[in-house]
Amino acid sequence: MSKFWSPAIQSLVPYTPGEQPKIDGLIKLNTNENPYPPAPGVQQVIATFDAERLRLYPDPDCQALKQALATDQGLQPEQVFVGNGSDEVLALAFMAFLRQSQPLLLPQTSYSFYNVYIDLFGIEARHIPLHADFSINLDDYQGSNGGIIFANPNAPTGISVPLSEIHRLLERNTESVVIVDEAYVDFGAESATALVSEFPNLLVTQTFSKSHSLAGMRVGFAYGQAELIDGLERVKNSFNSYPLDMLAQLSAIAALEDQTYFNQCCQQIIATRDWTTTQLTALGFDVLPSHTNFVFASHPKVAGAELMQYLRDNRILVRHFTKPGIDNHLRITIGTETQMQALIDCLRNHPSL
Ligand SMILES: *Cc1c(COP(=O)(O)O)cnc(C)c1O
Repeated sequence: MSKFWSPAIQSLVPYTPGEQPKIDGLIKLNTNENPYPPAPGVQQVIATFDAERLRLYPDPDCQALKQALATDQGLQPEQVFVGNGSDEVLALAFMAFLRQSQPLLLPQTSYSFYNVYIDLFGIEARHIPLHADFSINLDDYQGSNGGIIFANPNAPTGISVPLSEIHRLLERNTESVVIVDEAYVDFGAESATALVSEFPNLLVTQTFSKSHSLAGMRVGFAYGQAELIDGLERVKNSFNSYPLDMLAQLSAIAALEDQTYFNQCCQQIIATRDWTTTQLTALGFDVLPSHTNFVFASHPKVAGAELMQYLRDNRILVRHFTKPGIDNHLRITIGTETQMQALIDCLRNHPSL
């Protein structure tokens, strides 16, 4: 606390990202980073970039990147927004669309950053519990509201909802913006991007951080009809004209161009995820059905907090949340086959497993 802080800042509880410790030989499975390097074209872009160009400002409209993202989905560049990571895209979307007199509807258990934005922007919210199997049922999202947001697949559960259910929600809920956060969609879920042309109130956010191995570059994006994208541009241009630097714009384009490499990485992670799920289940874990690059698992005999500490003592870092209802679970990022084998071997050596 400081007397110099604005009053609204005194009570903020910021988001806590997973730790990035400097421990030799650490197997890092705590922040859903991709274990594989970005596409070779990204290395090429960085290696051949002429630093002299940094004299100039980058393209404030990111036209080439928007064009590439639009082409990828058969949309127009006016239907694409890009930002400094999808966290920024989400923050701008909260500012642009969700500060309404009606409450925002969102899952009780989801990406915890949503609650940080809710507090930051003073938004009234109604949290809707997950079902006993940790799934989201969009039929629960009823009544007048100032917007709806959920992650699909959801985090940290990894469970996805089918596109048909999102379609049904959008047919019913036409008077407020529906944001679908698809940070993990490339690992096996159905994207709502296919519905953008049909529904003017749908915004779909995605990121290069997970499936394109570019968490360190900070590139996120959103698809929506031009009217929504315009709203985001208004807020963005009232805040920071240049959220994406030159290297980020070029690297994202290079990553997007190499579809073969992208598909290989995603397929490999999906295969390793399924292997990991089988192994954890054999050890007695309950593993939720995941369409992401992580699994969310609990063990009936050993508490999540204890398992996290045991793994950490063995230089394997996983994420544990203290939130009631999920505090017995571990969120385990899918790494390489070797890393996951090490995780399973380590767990097998636990005296109670
Ligand atoms: C990782 C993540 C994001 C943000 O990713 P960026 O790195 O900011 O693009 C957004 N939503 C969910 C659910 C995430 O897990």
